[in-house]
Amino acid sequence: MCGIVGYIGKENALKAVVEGLEKLEYRGYDSAGVAYKKGEDILICKEKGRVSDLKLCILDTDSSLAIGHTRWATHGEPNKRNAHPHCSMNGRFVIVHNGIIENYQKLKFEYLSEYSFISETDTEIIVNLIEHFSISLTTEEAIRKTMSLLEGSYACLILDQNDLEHIYCMKDKSPLLIGRGKSAVCFASDITGLIGYAEEYMPLEDKTFGVISKEGIYLQDIIGIAIENKFQKIAVQKEEIDKQTYDHFMLKEIYEQPMMVRNLIHHYFSKEEVNVSSKLIHHIRQSDKINFVACGSSMYASYFAKYYMEKLCGIPCEVFCASELVYSTPLISKRPFFIFFSQSGETADLIAVIKKIKKQRFPILTITNTIESSMVRLSDYYLNIYAGKEIAVASTKAYTAMIVTSAILARAVSKTKTNLKSNLKAVSLAMEKVLENKEVCKGIAKEIIDQKDAFYIGRGIDYWTSLEASLKLKEIAYIHTEAFSSGELKHGPIALITKNTPVLAIITQEGTNRITRSNLEETASRGAKTYVIASKGLSTPKDDVIIPNVAHYLSPLVSVLVVQLIAYYAAVLKHNDVDKPKNLAKSVTVE
Ligand code: GLU
Repeated sequence: MCGIVGYIGKENALKAVVEGLEKLEYRGYDSAGVAYKKGEDILICKEKGRVSDLKLCILDTDSSLAIGHTRWATHGEPNKRNAHPHCSMNGRFVIVHNGIIENYQKLKFEYLSEYSFISETDTEIIVNLIEHFSISLTTEEAIRKTMSLLEGSYACLILDQNDLEHIYCMKDKSPLLIGRGKSAVCFASDITGLIGYAEEYMPLEDKTFGVISKEGIYLQDIIGIAIENKFQKIAVQKEEIDKQTYDHFMLKEIYEQPMMVRNLIHHYFSKEEVNVSSKLIHHIRQSDKINFVACGSSMYASYFAKYYMEKLCGIPCEVFCASELVYSTPLISKRPFFIFFSQSGETADLIAVIKKIKKQRFPILTITNTIESSMVRLSDYYLNIYAGKEIAVASTKAYTAMIVTSAILARAVSKTKTNLKSNLKAVSLAMEKVLENKEVCKGIAKEIIDQKDAFYIGRGIDYWTSLEASLKLKEIAYIHTEAFSSGELKHGPIALITKNTPVLAIITQEGTNRITRSNLEETASRGAKTYVIASKGLSTPKDDVIIPNVAHYLSPLVSVLVVQLIAYYAAVLKHNDVDKPKNLAKSVTVE
């Protein structure tokens, strides 16, 4: 997870690296640190907490070369001692690392019995291995030798005290990009960290070793064969990573959803026809089963994709949780098609599954917000969800954009014409109406913030929205929230209802309206404090939030805005860090 940044060039490297870390902070934020050149030395400054805490302890203002890190701890507590950068025992090498070294104990035992360690991290093994091998090898050779021994994932930047004109890098499985500007060469874990300093970027392939200086970039594979530099223009605009007038990125991203739906219509429709590659459509039509693979909110979005594909195209579908699929072997049909969902395109669990599926030569489509990502590079096809940069850790617009893109894809694959385009236009207007009603959501948030537990209920489509709703309340408001299919309550969960437990029902489907209301009533009889979020056509005057009617299969795109706002205001009222909730990070780049 975490963010790493490096800079070497004409401008102030320390300033560039700290700015880069601020932009990447959403990737990991339990501690932060920098290493930079001062005279003939490397100085290290690190701090527990945020980049803002780190800034207070950096005494220098200028440097020509620097590397930095925001950590998402995997080995060892998030404290100052475990914060990166780490130094080798004799002080020659300094490293920042993103990822996990799975065989670090074994390597420590085999090669580093003479070494003493300061931190509990796996990272300290890497930097000491480099030092150990550098006794008889050049720095390049020592790093490549170390790479050949490491198992797990890593993106590392390394400084050598004996050569302060270069930054070394190595990468396998964790993301790392090199950026090139008029006066600088820089590194970052994602493109956001390069903005403002680089005009072009190049994502590094797995098992790449590199060394950069002011003069240039020199890349090799693990055995030393040169890799060609292939740079492309950075398309992300500076405004996309700015909060503008919003209090939080999450609120900005919630408000961007109506526009995003219109953007998707613009990108994927010409008149009533859908623009999706005919080769992809043909390939999906040939398949006898579609397997959706995702994690978290993307997994909940893929339940809708399954529903659209089955209803419109008649192809059986199954949703898999990536972190489970990677360690299990399900029964695969004769002509399967795999569709992966990921906001970042860098999700480690998904990449592990893609690699497994690729070996079996099954066709793969990635649906993502990040076209320049590892998952896209590994896939046969990709579809852009055009959500624009999503910075808040809790996904909002990327989730809805995935559902819209799935509906568009299903419409393209299906041979029956539907009026999806005009239905989506109606969705964007309905979303705007929900946003106008934000005070009602804030009112509900106020009533539930002191509760330890809460429940969302619904059936079918509304149950899948409940899953996402409960995840939002958990991740940013830290309220233990569960989602239940309302019919399941009586089979166990209703035992959890105590006086005033909030139970929120989502009701947008005519066929399940009455039964869900009865189930809600059953919880009220046992003391629950109940709330109803209902579509206008199904609502009663007593309902708490009434949302505009849209085509029933697109209603989750509207109802979800209500639950996003409830979670947002609950987090704000509890004074939580909305955009960077505790223990989480944005791109989950470790398994
Ligand atoms: N495994 C390393 C640690 O725990 C790196 C974690 C990260 O990617 O931030 O320090």
